Amino acid sequence: MDHPAAAGGRPVVTCEGLVKVFGDVRAVDDVTLAVHEGELLALLGPSGCGKTTFLRLVAGFERPDNGRIELAGTEVAGPGRHVPPERRHVGVVFQDYALFPHLNVAANVGYGVRDRSTRADRVQAVLDMVGLTAVADRYPHELSGGQQQRVALARALAPEPAIVLLDEPFSNLDAALRVEVRNEVRTILKRAGATAVLVTHDQEEALSLADRVAVMRAGRVLQVGTAQVIYERPADPFVAAFVGDADLLWGEVGHDGVATPIGILQTSAPLASHGTNGGERALVVVRAETVRLRLDGSGPAVVRRRTFYGHDQVIEVELDTGEVIRCRMGPGRAFEPGDRVRVSVTEPVVAFPASALA
Ligand code: ATP
Repeated sequence: MDHPAAAGGRPVVTCEGLVKVFGDVRAVDDVTLAVHEGELLALLGPSGCGKTTFLRLVAGFERPDNGRIELAGTEVAGPGRHVPPERRHVGVVFQDYALFPHLNVAANVGYGVRDRSTRADRVQAVLDMVGLTAVADRYPHELSGGQQQRVALARALAPEPAIVLLDEPFSNLDAALRVEVRNEVRTILKRAGATAVLVTHDQEEALSLADRVAVMRAGRVLQVGTAQVIYERPADPFVAAFVGDADLLWGEVGHDGVATPIGILQTSAPLASHGTNGGERALVVVRAETVRLRLDGSGPAVVRRRTFYGHDQVIEVELDTGEVIRCRMGPGRAFEPGDRVRVSVTEPVVAFPASALA
């Protein structure tokens, strides 16, 4: 996967200290973030963390209470300044697509292209790019969900915006179509050379689609990085648990690793770098795919639940300490609820010393 940001593309969007308050909710709370030319950035976080509000601030549908936004080198929001949405050169793909029902596909796509002399050519070029030329004369209700999604994307791209903002763009598609359409959307955005921000609460979507992922919680951006970095070097326990299947276990830092209820676990980075002394408590991230179970009548855990997915399964075990961890493994029928097991972990773990936690 290409990473334009890593290649040092110039910033198209720059937000500094962005704040938006609704009553006593700080929906966006001091967000500083840059999106680089040609980059697809996913804003990932649980429901209500402020993702949509952030997009609405960038699009100009909301005014920030503090901070500033620069788009393509021009300040569009800041103290005493608010450039209206129609003058920001931003393309938006809404969750429900918001297509004009009384306009056919070509007219929907051409809607935002101001220059009448080039409109027809531009519509044709964009329809070609998204593969919709054959349905140019149809109306939105005559299209499949995936086609409607592509019309919405084509409409956003047609005026050649500085940035495309996509708000949960796949949530109206069924699971099978979602994977296909999201790959298609990435291909189209890359082909167009577009810079884009995509909002999602689906970690798989964010990890598989974006060049970089920004993880958000309660209005704040906790970490920005490539999918690999976010997954392997999460900045805090929330990011670790939210991105990927992970459980958190308390342990005690020793000279040879962290002592936990499932044994001494090696850490992927030396804890000394956090200024940790032996004996300190640490929160350990246990990824389900690294957990192995072995039937053992005197083991420290009991199988509580087995969830079968076909390609794999997740076995939930409860430790005698009351803590629960999950094991993702192949689909063979090896463990049943009630089985007593011993638990091991195949990879070094990420650990956060208590002193490093807020
Ligand atoms: P979701 O994924 O559920 O859409 P989100 O991460 O996009 O959530 P936002 O919609 O940005 O989150 O909302 C962030 C917070 O701000 C929530 O607590 C929400 O209730 C609140 N909020 C958003 N818009 C308004 C508004 N117009 N008036 C009052 N509160 C609002």
